Amino acid sequence: MNKKNIYYHVSIENGLNKSLTHFTNIIVKILSDKRTWDRYTFVKTLSSDKATIHITLNKPKTIEKICNFKGLSCTDMNNHNVYINANRWFYGAPKSKLKLKNYREYLINHEIFHAMNGTHNKCQDYEICPISHQYTLGIPKHSRTTSFPLKWEKDLLKKLPEIY
Ligand SMILES: [Zn+2]
Repeated sequence: MNKKNIYYHVSIENGLNKSLTHFTNIIVKILSDKRTWDRYTFVKTLSSDKATIHITLNKPKTIEKICNFKGLSCTDMNNHNVYINANRWFYGAPKSKLKLKNYREYLINHEIFHAMNGTHNKCQDYEICPISHQYTLGIPKHSRTTSFPLKWEKDLLKKLPEIY
């Protein structure tokens, strides 16, 4: 079956002195990985107007203003804008038990899930924590991690309304 293309645009907040190329390359790698959400084919575009999903690397202060909370990344589900917290992007989250490379994979998969209208799911002890769990805040003691969506989450996403 042919999957619908979803276009995304990547940017960095003005004044955040970081490499857009480096940030973009990591995101492209994650969103073209076979293990990511399989409902759509994610296609990067340089045109912000053409994009459905907008991903920005932001200063923590900006996220606080936009999302009204501290220390996390967030997504505005109405307009599919994803705000990645620069502190988390560069330093990860110890409570998640994920190494930085995997934390970034988790983070992009998690926020993109929100951009597609997905909402949080809890992680039970002794389970593999789903991507829709908030890893940044911690995982149960005996749980294992993943940095890509689980099969049941992918199936759940397919039941949500399409985004445009
Ligand atoms: Zn979330």
